[in-house]
Amino acid sequence: MAKKNGSIYSRAVEAWGTESQMDQTIEELAELIQAISKFCRAKTPEKKTKAYLHLCEEVADVENMINQLRYMLDADLIDKFREEKLKRTEKRLKKPKDAE
Ligand SMILES: [Mg+2]
Repeated sequence: MAKKNGSIYSRAVEAWGTESQMDQTIEELAELIQAISKFCRAKTPEKKTKAYLHLCEEVADVENMINQLRYMLDADLIDKFREEKLKRTEKRLKKPKDAE
C-alpha cells in the first residue's frame, strides 16, 4: 500500500514541508495515544465499538504520517532497524519464560 501511495506521501512533504509534516505526525501520534486510551477504558459494547472505529482511523492517520517520515528520512535505514528489532523480538519469543 505504501508503494501505491508513494507519490501522494512525497507530494504532501514537498507541498507542506518537512517541519509541518513532522508537526502533523506529532499531532496524529497524540490522537492515537488518546484513541488507544479511550478504547481500553470503554465499558459498554456501544462505546467499545465506537472507540474501536476511532482507533482504526487514528492508526490509519499515523500510518500515513509514518510513510511520509519514510520519505523524509532514510527508508532503507528504517527497514534495517525494523528487521533488527523484529529479529530481537523473535529471539525473545523463542526464549523459555523463566529465562527472561
Ligand atoms: Mg487523526
